[in-house]
Amino acid sequence: MARYTDAVCRLCRREGQKLYLKGDRCLTPKCAFERRGFAPGMHARKAQFKRNQSDYSLQLREKQKVKRIYGVMERQFRRYFQYAVRGKGLTGVNLLVMLESRLDNVVFRLGLAQSRAQARQIVRHGHIMVNGRRTNVPSYLVKPNDVIAVRQESRSREYFQIVGEILGERATPPWLSLNSEALTGRVLSRPTRQDIDIPVNEQLVVEFYSR
Ligand code: SF4
Repeated sequence: MARYTDAVCRLCRREGQKLYLKGDRCLTPKCAFERRGFAPGMHARKAQFKRNQSDYSLQLREKQKVKRIYGVMERQFRRYFQYAVRGKGLTGVNLLVMLESRLDNVVFRLGLAQSRAQARQIVRHGHIMVNGRRTNVPSYLVKPNDVIAVRQESRSREYFQIVGEILGERATPPWLSLNSEALTGRVLSRPTRQDIDIPVNEQLVVEFYSR
């Protein structure tokens, strides 16, 4: 599955806010958005002041922001949207719940990775088990009662030794439970909109695709 491989700090600068795509670095003065908080590109700074944002532009930016936060490409994102439309309840909330239930996001939320991109790599490299089965698909959607664990053979790796020491320092969302000693987590329920702390207006995304 394709993924974005260019410089990710450009994405924050384009969206005009920190998307926290790089883990701990985002919290340091090295953050590119802190140092150059304007859009990337030669003429972008000038254009930024001139531009009158249309409804379309606001909707587009919101859609891009959600995609970029979760590291999903356009085709897959559109597919999520189609599923969200067919689901019960609000389409925008369905969309966010689906994105939040991705295995790479859950690995990140449990604190096994510093960023979703790192979580994705951990999953792709086969370090994660779901319900006792090795699962290397970052887009796998977890369900209540699923157990996510670091594979036994991977636990002796230096990375997971370090993770084991600091695991639990970050708050675990209420829909997940973490056993930091066993390097495992459980899905307690489906996430609700209140559990998803990303700064987006999902209604604008719905409006974008409903044009
Ligand atoms: Fe965005 Fe993090 Fe880069 Fe800062 S360091 S610009 S928050 S990805």
